[in-house]
Amino acid sequence: MNKEIIVGVLALQGDFFEHQRILSRMGVASMQVRNKSDLDKCSALIIPGGESTTMANLLSRADLAFKIKKRVKKGMLFYGTCAGAILAAKKVIGENRFKPLALIDVDIKRNAYGRQADSFETEIEVSGKKINGIFIRAPVISRAGKKVEVLARVDNNPVLVKHKNVLLGTFHPESDDEIFVHELFLAMFK
Ligand code: GLN
Repeated sequence: MNKEIIVGVLALQGDFFEHQRILSRMGVASMQVRNKSDLDKCSALIIPGGESTTMANLLSRADLAFKIKKRVKKGMLFYGTCAGAILAAKKVIGENRFKPLALIDVDIKRNAYGRQADSFETEIEVSGKKINGIFIRAPVISRAGKKVEVLARVDNNPVLVKHKNVLLGTFHPESDDEIFVHELFLAMFK
């Protein structure tokens, strides 16, 4: 693994620490991102799971949205999990409290598995490998644009999607010490 890579993990709220733990197990340097100068030091960014409305508020308070959009447009690798995927979508269905970053052409619906299945685990097949997927009040990707590659589905809904330098997942490999998705993410570095 390239030693010069520093993966930033947005650390305003949510399970950023779990992402850092996985990265450290992989021998990849990471740092917590709370402001613009932190972001300048990173070659990739992860927005973790958490509460998307809260995170959106904190993001705008830290004045980070524009810079994230600009860096991602220029090719910075991005991985959003769960709330991070919600923030990165083009459109969040039925949500008008915040505007997502529109880093990738997908629409997403928050808490879309309903109360009866607030949280669940299920096997997911990604690139021929079976991994455990933990879904915690997960969103559903209700539309994926034509250019978006669907890497995994559950009940026919995309749960891991990719376009260019942007990867989104609606489940939490970091809560499971599952390194496969992070490996896939870092393999996106050319
Ligand atoms: N339900 C949360 C939201 O809407 C996302 C849950 C998560 O990140 N695990 O923001």
